[in-house]
Amino acid sequence: MTSAALGVRRSGVQDLPAPLREAWAAARVRAAHTAPYLTTAVLALQPVVVDGLEEAGCSAAALRAFPVDTGWRVHLDPHWLAVTPPAGIAFWLVHQVGHLLRQHADRFGAACPQPAAVPGQPRTPEQQRWNVSADCEVNDDVPGDARASDAVLPSSLGLADGQPAEVYWAALAHRTPTSVQATVDCGSGTDGVARGWDSGEPGLTEPEARQVRRETARTVAARGREGGDVPEAWRRWAEQVLEPVVDWRRELSAALRLGVAGVVGRVDYSYVRPSRRAGAVPGVVLPSLRQPVPQVTVLLDTSQSMLGEPLSRAVAEVGGVLRAVGVARHSLRVLCCDSTAYDSARVLDAREVQVVGGGGTDLRAGLAAAASARPRPDLVVVLTDGGTDWPQERPRHGAVVVGLLDSRRRPPDWARTVDIPWGGA
Ligand SMILES: [Zn+2]
Repeated sequence: MTSAALGVRRSGVQDLPAPLREAWAAARVRAAHTAPYLTTAVLALQPVVVDGLEEAGCSAAALRAFPVDTGWRVHLDPHWLAVTPPAGIAFWLVHQVGHLLRQHADRFGAACPQPAAVPGQPRTPEQQRWNVSADCEVNDDVPGDARASDAVLPSSLGLADGQPAEVYWAALAHRTPTSVQATVDCGSGTDGVARGWDSGEPGLTEPEARQVRRETARTVAARGREGGDVPEAWRRWAEQVLEPVVDWRRELSAALRLGVAGVVGRVDYSYVRPSRRAGAVPGVVLPSLRQPVPQVTVLLDTSQSMLGEPLSRAVAEVGGVLRAVGVARHSLRVLCCDSTAYDSARVLDAREVQVVGGGGTDLRAGLAAAASARPRPDLVVVLTDGGTDWPQERPRHGAVVVGLLDSRRRPPDWARTVDIPWGGA
């Protein structure tokens, strides 16, 4: 459906007439001058020339804001390239990399889980409201003299500057849809819903896009440290991008919650014969509702390389998360494993876990011991530095979450892996 827009023609910048090629080149240079800290991102944009939109039923103004897709393609309409001054194009380029760097497309999915949007179709009121919200987040960081005169600002909607799009999204929830209609369409790079002009071909891959984000963040942070003219909101953004370690606890918590939720959500209708006294309907067996309690086994790699501070801190973290997600003491089992598995404790408290082992590592023994236990674990949490062999196939019972203390040695794909930096910092 995306490239269904029949009649849409796409080509490269090299096919444009010389004056338009020059306008594009000049705009990119100008964008890099406007926000030098975003140069890497501006240069990562992949231009696609789009023609014939009107024949395809799209508005002639559709590409006025030089919209992007999630593959970092920026869509150029020769008409808007010809009539927009270089400073205006430069503004839109800085604006659009703002959407991509801040990952507005992913965030729309979280802010509005059921957008009811149809790829290639006119935007829904939710998409419009999100576009306005995301524009508010982006525009208040663009230097005033570089901003397009019709760029929406939080203040123009009676809202405070410097907030994330989600705050504006919530604040605009009670306005009428017409009052938060987007004057421009910033493309699928803003909400993840394909537009008629998107080609659907891969642009930058996700790892490449991540690379651009990190490189840009390093530049922003470096210029910020040198006292350069970097807006505060971009400095905060760079800190978040460059310090993924702040998120490892949240990631671990999410992985454990998912593992446990899979079990808790699995409500059994067990046909259990009721006691005679309860037999209101003689001879009929009624189903009774039984919610299973998740059985969790924590497998600690207690080989020589793991002993000490890192292990005890990781144990404390996992213990805290399991308590928080409601894993009861009686359904928890702790195993230690070097090259052999040892039963250790029923509590996950760094002070009470008896660390047994200290030899070489083979966690296959520990996973086999976990799987053969009765009741079988629904979730196995492994804490290891990864210096072990793994079973080739996913254990038949239970999900496996690996808290990995050395990111260089990856567990197999069948395990959900969370990197825990050494020392749990
Ligand atoms: Zn925008």
